[in-house]
Amino acid sequence: MSSPAKRPRSPSKPSVDELRKQSRRNYLARRETQQLSQLRDEIIDEKTLFRDEELTERERRDLQLKQQIYELATERAASSNVAPTYVVPDQKGVQDDSIDVTSLDAHPASDQKIWEDSQIRKGKLHTQQTAHSSKYPILFDALDFDLPAKLQGLPHLPQRSFAQQRIAKRKEERERIQEERRSLPMYAHRDALIKAIKQYQVVIVQSETGSGKTTQIPQYLIEEGFGSVVCTQPRRVAAMSVAARVAYEMGVKLGNEVGYSIRFEDCTSDQTVIKYVTDGMLLREFLSEPDLKAYDVILIDEAHERSMSTDIVMGLIKDISRFRGDDVRVIISSATMDTEKFSSYFDDAPIYSVPGRRYDVDIYYTKTPEPDYVEASCVSVLQIHASQPAGDILVFLTGQEEIEAAEEILRERTRGLGSKLGELIIAPIYATLPSEMQAKIFEPTPEGARKVVLATNIAETSVTIPGIVYVIDPGFCKQKSYNAKTGMESLLVVPVSRAGAKQRAGRAGRTQPGKCFRLYTKWSYMNEMEEDTVPELLRTNLSQVVLLLLSLGIDNLIDFDFIDAPPPEALLRSLEHLYALGALNDKGKLTKLGRRMAELPLEPMMAKALLASEKYKCSEEVTVICSMLSVNNAVFYRPKQKKMMADAARAAFARGGGGDHMTLLRCYAQWRDAGFSTQWCYEHFVQTRTMKRARDVYEQLDALLERVEIDRHSVGTGDKVPILKALTAGFFYNACRLQKNGHYRTLKNPHTVRIHPSSCFANAEIRPRWLIYHELVFTTKEFMRQVFEIEGNWLHEAAPHFHKAED
Ligand code: ADP
Ligand code: MG
Repeated sequence: MSSPAKRPRSPSKPSVDELRKQSRRNYLARRETQQLSQLRDEIIDEKTLFRDEELTERERRDLQLKQQIYELATERAASSNVAPTYVVPDQKGVQDDSIDVTSLDAHPASDQKIWEDSQIRKGKLHTQQTAHSSKYPILFDALDFDLPAKLQGLPHLPQRSFAQQRIAKRKEERERIQEERRSLPMYAHRDALIKAIKQYQVVIVQSETGSGKTTQIPQYLIEEGFGSVVCTQPRRVAAMSVAARVAYEMGVKLGNEVGYSIRFEDCTSDQTVIKYVTDGMLLREFLSEPDLKAYDVILIDEAHERSMSTDIVMGLIKDISRFRGDDVRVIISSATMDTEKFSSYFDDAPIYSVPGRRYDVDIYYTKTPEPDYVEASCVSVLQIHASQPAGDILVFLTGQEEIEAAEEILRERTRGLGSKLGELIIAPIYATLPSEMQAKIFEPTPEGARKVVLATNIAETSVTIPGIVYVIDPGFCKQKSYNAKTGMESLLVVPVSRAGAKQRAGRAGRTQPGKCFRLYTKWSYMNEMEEDTVPELLRTNLSQVVLLLLSLGIDNLIDFDFIDAPPPEALLRSLEHLYALGALNDKGKLTKLGRRMAELPLEPMMAKALLASEKYKCSEEVTVICSMLSVNNAVFYRPKQKKMMADAARAAFARGGGGDHMTLLRCYAQWRDAGFSTQWCYEHFVQTRTMKRARDVYEQLDALLERVEIDRHSVGTGDKVPILKALTAGFFYNACRLQKNGHYRTLKNPHTVRIHPSSCFANAEIRPRWLIYHELVFTTKEFMRQVFEIEGNWLHEAAPHFHKAED
């Protein structure tokens, strides 16, 4: 040991005692720094990993307290002229566990990552920039601490309620989500894609379903600093479920940063930066904001579907992209390869193709055509369940009715199988299914069980369900079809196109090799199916779109830049229709009535009926009827064991006459009088969730009445004439007259139609002489669904230039 005493002491050198004291002070400062940064990490974890509403009262209080302490401490540290930590350039004399000054900066690397990862934009912790920073390393010698006593160590911190386990679990979950995100095909192209989007105003993105177009691209854009993204979907269920998924991935509450907007339901807020909307809703947004200023990026998703609204939106977007110039970006996304068309439409926009991964799918055809494909689908499901290795099944059916029928068959046939086979979890998905029930299709299948998803066309490309290995494709879908010559529109079950069948089969090979069972013959696939689905615009009633375009000031429809122009006679028919409804004058210009009709998010006939209710002083009742009609035929149910009781309950609503519309009105009114009770629904064989939706729609429509300045009036359910007259004012186009054979003949384009078996008139002994239908469905024959009774002379009153006066 050398003797320090022998060395000459420089007067400036501190004594051993002083050095000790300083060491102690340094130690305390270091400890506090450590505590502070630990505290900050905890706060960040708790705040970013959990949403406010996920915290218990106590956790929330504790978190507040921690934050207060933290703020106090950092403030002190900032105001005291001494930094609470230090580094020594050569590291001599400093223990390794000393805190690097940089860790007290507002955004140390690890926190930054958590920050980005969780992408929380709310409740950011405002760490105050302390007076020091790594730019000013403080030397050992210069250090002269004198911390206030209070801050010598931080007060006791609440640790109790936030179980570390919970935080760890949540961190793991976040990491898993990020891992999943990184594993999607789109991720490898993230930067290149962003670069392309920054460079070009319009970019076409093509990749296989499930690669991350819908859920990832909007997130990338926000991460890259774009302010707001809107993404269209042709289907409402897709808009809702995708928004829910993205909110989950970002760890935010649906409706805050990520939201959706569909007709009659707006789940967004001022904070919303990623918004999923139906294409129809975006189309309506042009009415209030013709240049869509609110969005930095517009993503037209599922463009290959060529839905009517998507096509029109593309036409309008083409216009605003020129006009808004560099301040808007447009992405057109498609799951199929034929993107050239979009590219040339958008002045040769670049196509960005992301190769997908896909496993082989074995395709099986039936030897002979299947007479009943619902039954055949169920048999196939059970066969797969009994004989094939693990893997979930996806069945494509055409609509809610078929899905419910299949569900019942499957339940019945798996009942009593006991433990012989694994559990078969049945998960339906269709447009009007409430969102909490939709979530079921995405739930992981437990070990030993098998999930069977019964889906409409929605599962073809717009939503991806993990775990599907088997696909059953009966080869049909429901499609709107329109006869331009007659102006009649009806909902048909039609064969899918070969392109559709390929997409369906592809669903089986996403995560491993799969199998697709086609319930049709190979011959029929080759010879009877169309190559591609006809764009909706070419097979639909254009009245609503024409009305909207006219109200946007686009008068010259013939010159509108359609990607595929509809047949001129279809345009002409819809102009005629709008003229008959009084929405246009004889010069083809929008009337005041037409303008008001366009304000309502309803098809023109329904809009007209609602506006006519003003004259007949029954806006209240017609609003209810419109709401009930919008919830899509799912009001009444008939359990197998209680069919008679269910039918009796339904017949009771029909009593009082008028037809199906009045039945719906009475049903709603009684439910309302029963205080919107669930028990009441149960007793009357009425679907509660459908009624709740009708009530939501009613509230929205009711609010809209104000906007179009309709006074609220009620005649009650007793006096049906004014109500039926108002409906006639809208739906006179659909009038038909009883024939001797007991069927009906339409007035417009005379042909025979029948009353749908679900109508209250289906089994009536005396059939009304005149009826008006709400819609035509073609199954085995052409059926009218939802009909009401009128008197012949009302038609002339409703549309003098369309129906001649009755003699
Ligand atoms: P794309 O739009 O290209 O078809 P998506 O962005 O819709 O693809 O989906 C990307 C991936 O996200 C899918 O492969 C699927 O695994 C996953 N995903 C999407 N929605 C859900 C969900 N609700 N639950 C679980 N995984 C989902
Ligand atoms: Mg998608």
